[in-house]
Amino acid sequence: MDEFKPVLAIVVPCFNEELCIKSTVDKLIGVLSSLVHKNKISESSYIYFVDDGSTDASWDIISDLNKANCQVKGLKFIRNFGNQKALIAGYEGVRNLGCDCAVSIDADLQQDEWAIEKFVDKYIEGYDIVSGIRNSRKTDTLFKKTSAILFYKLMNMLGAKIPMNHSDYRLISKRALDVMEEYPEKYLFLRGFFNEVGLKTAYVNFDVKPRAAGESKFNFISLMGLALNGITSFSIVPLRIVSILGFLMALFSFVVGFETILEKIFFNNTPNGWATTILLLCFFGGIQICCLGVIGEYVGQVYREVKGRPRYIKETELR
Ligand code: UDP
Ligand code: MG
Repeated sequence: MDEFKPVLAIVVPCFNEELCIKSTVDKLIGVLSSLVHKNKISESSYIYFVDDGSTDASWDIISDLNKANCQVKGLKFIRNFGNQKALIAGYEGVRNLGCDCAVSIDADLQQDEWAIEKFVDKYIEGYDIVSGIRNSRKTDTLFKKTSAILFYKLMNMLGAKIPMNHSDYRLISKRALDVMEEYPEKYLFLRGFFNEVGLKTAYVNFDVKPRAAGESKFNFISLMGLALNGITSFSIVPLRIVSILGFLMALFSFVVGFETILEKIFFNNTPNGWATTILLLCFFGGIQICCLGVIGEYVGQVYREVKGRPRYIKETELR
């Protein structure tokens, strides 16, 4: 009897990556062929691009590659929906097309593509999720490095256990893809989801290379958006902190008010203390606005989810 060889789908989100796609496909086909050759995966394994509304020639290049080689497939969004949506669409797309496991990797192949073999080995051992952990962040800018460290520290403090230097470079089994379908939330935070879902998880370290061509598609605003979505969709601890802070503030004002009344009655030496008043005013004003902001973030999250808009809209798909 023939032994079972899994169909591997490589999901590649891309946004204006015309400079990278061709060489990325060559390298990924190389990895697939090598794994087929070693009898680790099926010959019908394939690459699945998700064009996140590129405005350059990315989609034309993908279409041409698809005509030349049916191992290259793809999906195009009608506009840019962001990298997380592109990843989710990729996972959903390959689940519908059919696969036993899926690996997601960036179009610029900054992640070492040969780690896919280690991912597949872990999958064959029986793991449902294999998470890629970067060996270092030396290719990141200082800002990205510091903000990433702060973000992961904060997320862990808030109760969402995400390993440091985690990335969206991972393998997930068909079973994990099926479980994902049961999470209807539109703003699913994948890194949090795959860590808390409870499926058997392994970790594989990989090297990060500098970007081969083009430039990073993430800026300060998009990174903050990702971080805030991560926090508000996976932890309600900030809301609790706000409540505790509110309680402490109330207690403090009660004590101060009580003290003022006593002073008025027994010593009758009012004014003085202008500076203290202003200081306290600013301090509490600041805390209140900050707390309102935190609550606002959650209200915003509820608002976006409740509208139930589609995660993304497809323009075309190449199967
Ligand atoms: N990407 C995407 N949509 C976006 C931004 C980025 O699909 O709105 C893709 C991008 O093409 C790449 C991956 O997400 O394949 C990671 O992006 P990038 O390499 O720019 O991020 P960095 O490596 O700088 O974190
Ligand atoms: Mg990159």
